[in-house]
Amino acid sequence: NRRFVLAERPQGEPTAATLRLEAVPVPAPEKGKMLLRTEYLSLDPYMRGRMSDAPSYAAPVAVGAVMEGGTVAQVVASDVDGFKPGDRVLSYNGWQDYAVSDGVGVTLLDPQMAHRSWALGILGMPGFTAWAGLTQIGQPKPGETVCVAAATGPVGATVGQIAKLMGCHVVGIAGGAEKCAHAVGRLGFDQCIDHRSADFADQLAVAAPKGIDVYFENVGGAVFDAVLPLLNTGARVPVCGLISQYNATRLPDGPDRLSMLLGQVLRKRMTLRGFIIFQDFGHLYPAFAKAMGDWLAAGRMHYREDMIDGLEQAPDAFIGLLRGENFGKRVIRIGPA
Ligand code: NDP
Repeated sequence: NRRFVLAERPQGEPTAATLRLEAVPVPAPEKGKMLLRTEYLSLDPYMRGRMSDAPSYAAPVAVGAVMEGGTVAQVVASDVDGFKPGDRVLSYNGWQDYAVSDGVGVTLLDPQMAHRSWALGILGMPGFTAWAGLTQIGQPKPGETVCVAAATGPVGATVGQIAKLMGCHVVGIAGGAEKCAHAVGRLGFDQCIDHRSADFADQLAVAAPKGIDVYFENVGGAVFDAVLPLLNTGARVPVCGLISQYNATRLPDGPDRLSMLLGQVLRKRMTLRGFIIFQDFGHLYPAFAKAMGDWLAAGRMHYREDMIDGLEQAPDAFIGLLRGENFGKRVIRIGPA
């Protein structure tokens, strides 16, 4: 059983020293437990938070413990009611080949499911995040302008496509021409602006001539600075993630613009609301699963995976995710040993 444990808490960007590969015997499941073999490991931005012991909504991974992560796995042996060898499940094996589980928090996947790994993306946590943040907090109306960054990732791509289905003008923000071409040509966004362009803020203003009514916040930093002046009176801002800040070791240089921000919130009567998907909206999961299942079956939703083979690739793939090197949902595929 190969596994990555947290070797040290990173300062700034994670490095090769952050995670350590270990080889240990495959665990033997005791009575009332089952043995799961990981087939797909999801890489997600929140994992950077788990590497840190700064106060957060979830406990950090302990130094020396297996790195956490959502997985699609095969049941190898089982003494848990409802699970038998060969079943495929959504589980939280973490960054390792095998895990033992008592079945709590483990969900059976439909054996007819065409793409099991999608349970880690558009049909799972990131897709649900997009749907709930947009519909519950963003509450876009037809004809409004919706803006979202990280536009080709699993959250942003889903936000923009749902907003199009709701009749909105959708402006994406992504890193590079190829991602922007995908957002417009494949995902159906009206516009997509490259946040690395020198005149990014000007291009964004042109792409949203009527201002922005819903800004789905995935990244923060310089992108938010460009969006803020474009927000309309009554704008809604689901605050989902701030990935541009996850490796930051201190606040940015001044001047302090907090009172300017609050002044805008006041004068434009805006709503900014943060959310943690399962803690805030877990009860809505069945409604999401039904809606998304229907859209996918009808061919109204596109999904792109960025699949990388081999557990040993996971640390570099994760560092690259925080840099924007992924193009679509980043998943590690782990073949049978
Ligand atoms: P993505 O697959 O979209 O990966 C992150 C992307 O962020 C990168 O590909 C890159 O895209 C973009 N990015 C990274 N650094 C910067 C930067 N400095 N400026 C602008 N963009 C940057 O991730 P997900 O779709 O999985 O997640 C998107 C966001 O949603 C994250 O912030 C995540 O933490 C958050 N999230 C929050 C949840 C919640 O419950 N609140 C649940 C799930 C996710 P590009 O190259 O296009 O810039």
